[in-house]
Amino acid sequence: MDNIPTRFVLNGCAMRKDIPLVHGTVWGLEGRLAVFRPPHTACLNCFIAEAPPKEIFPVVGATPGVIGCMQVVETLKLLTGQGTTLDGKLLLWDGTTMQFRTLNVVRDPECPTCGR
Ligand SMILES: [Zn+2]
Repeated sequence: MDNIPTRFVLNGCAMRKDIPLVHGTVWGLEGRLAVFRPPHTACLNCFIAEAPPKEIFPVVGATPGVIGCMQVVETLKLLTGQGTTLDGKLLLWDGTTMQFRTLNVVRDPECPTCGR
């Protein structure tokens, strides 16, 4: 999905049904990847409170390929129980330097989707 409002809908459904959500986003030569696994991790809404203004982000064609392939790997691991997924983490990929970073994503107790 290419917009945040639709991702919020999917996030809400995933959280209500306890279905893992493998989230990926891209722009330019950068991408992000996260696995939200209810009820154990934060959800998309915990770190993106509201949709940003609608903009068109230029994306280098290979960037969705990089992030999309990693989403598939995470999904296969979830389905097969093999390996360790990015539960509770946000992976950042910078294609300009070919650097990966991983940050912890903390659950927001006041999150409108997964909070109290
Ligand atoms: Zn949340």
